[in-house]
Amino acid sequence: MSMRPLPIPTALVVETAGLSKSYGSVQALKSLDLKVARHSIFALLGPNGAGKTTTLKLLLGLIRPTAGSAHINGLDIVRNGLEARRHIGYLAQNPRFYEQLTAREMLRFRAGFFYHGPRAQVEAHLNETLALVGLTDKANRPIKGFSGGEMQRLGIGLAQINNPELLILDEPAANLDPQGRRDVLNVMAQLRERATILYCTHILDDVQQVSDTVAILNQGELVAQMPLSELLQSREGNSYILVLSGETQPVQARLAALPWVSSIQVLPSAEHTTWRVIVSDDAAAQADLLRQVLADPQVNVLDFGQQKRELEDVFLRLVERGVNEPL
Ligand code: ATP
Repeated sequence: MSMRPLPIPTALVVETAGLSKSYGSVQALKSLDLKVARHSIFALLGPNGAGKTTTLKLLLGLIRPTAGSAHINGLDIVRNGLEARRHIGYLAQNPRFYEQLTAREMLRFRAGFFYHGPRAQVEAHLNETLALVGLTDKANRPIKGFSGGEMQRLGIGLAQINNPELLILDEPAANLDPQGRRDVLNVMAQLRERATILYCTHILDDVQQVSDTVAILNQGELVAQMPLSELLQSREGNSYILVLSGETQPVQARLAALPWVSSIQVLPSAEHTTWRVIVSDDAAAQADLLRQVLADPQVNVLDFGQQKRELEDVFLRLVERGVNEPL
């Protein structure tokens, strides 16, 4: 008699090692090592053809790896595929519903396969799901009248009907208007308390709003995997932008000599002088940078601010420059 493998409570919900997939001569995924921590919202980013869908399909057991391995909750996706699949909820990119059903009926239909229990418990679970995805007032309307955002939220409700530990969402907010996107992101943020979310997207703005960890794929290769906050921190240090008028040379020389100023870039600017000051000690810069400049009576400060790194900037650098060049 074969033993049913017991789930092992691991800190990592998803862990892949050298996971690879080739289609003939096309290497869709090249030796991926992915680590998704429990209760994170993990974004898989990448341009078209990067290997995002291939990764999700491998984890879902829809295709088999050519090399390497992956574990979900400690369960091998090939050897214990069926069991691993029980821990996953999945929202496909273009989900299809029975549109003549109401949202509640559709959820009840899905629960019939994936959520078992006494009738009252099932109904309570449906109510809880409807509240979670913000569809309580629309529960009894046919799905065919739903907006794109409502459809996606219903899709997320359906995907989590079995209380999965891992929710895999393929482009959950693509093609939605800003309000629809915001609502979907809110549902994802709420779900984090009870599940881990791995989703792929090409909308950088959404990633910045809702994810805590990001992996960037390019041409089948992992080019970055780290907490979003770390990715957005410049490796060369934080920077400040100053727009100045007057005689700026003396103060520039004085600043450049300070130990916490790494460099001063003079940006092209027609009327005024614009500096990007890169610092190695942010606390020192916050306390002293503006003060140092204002101390010089020959200079007027027209604008001053910290330059925030945008994900788009990092993404384009990583994807366009390639793996081995510095950010
Ligand atoms: P998109 O954002 O366009 O969906 P993606 O990052 O999801 O892109 P994948 O769909 O994983 O990319 O594709 C990765 C590579 O593998 C691409 O070059 C694609 O053409 C190739 N590929 C995917 N599926 C197959 C297949 N069944 N047969 C042959 N090549 C395939």
